[in-house]
Amino acid sequence: MTIAQKKERMTAQKSFIFGYLKSVKTHPSAEAVFNEVKKKLPNISQGTVYRILNNFKEKGEVLAIDTKDNVHFDADISDHAHFICEKCGNVYDVMAECSKCGILKNKKTKVGSINKYLINFYGVCKNCK
Ligand SMILES: [Zn+2]
Ligand SMILES: [Zn+2]
Repeated sequence: MTIAQKKERMTAQKSFIFGYLKSVKTHPSAEAVFNEVKKKLPNISQGTVYRILNNFKEKGEVLAIDTKDNVHFDADISDHAHFICEKCGNVYDVMAECSKCGILKNKKTKVGSINKYLINFYGVCKNCK
């Protein structure tokens, strides 16, 4: 395989993974992304998937949310907060409730104005209660 062909394959893999991340709200772990992507691209290796995800993360194209025992990926990089379940490890978006909070709505604090934020809430989700 030539370098050009390799590059082309990598680009196709990258856009497939990005498309998958964009299509879900489940904040999948790298392993979950790999298992899903493998169904469509059976020849892709775990290492490649991990490398691509890391690359997205470094470029700020996706969010990486650290939980107790995993890293979860989110292609939605707009300001929003997450709820992390301490039992099942699932990551949920909690935007609606947060938008009612004065600081997040006005993007201002006494110290200065807010450009972006990352908020993680920890608790036990409905499914685990
Ligand atoms: Zn849970
Ligand atoms: Zn999210």
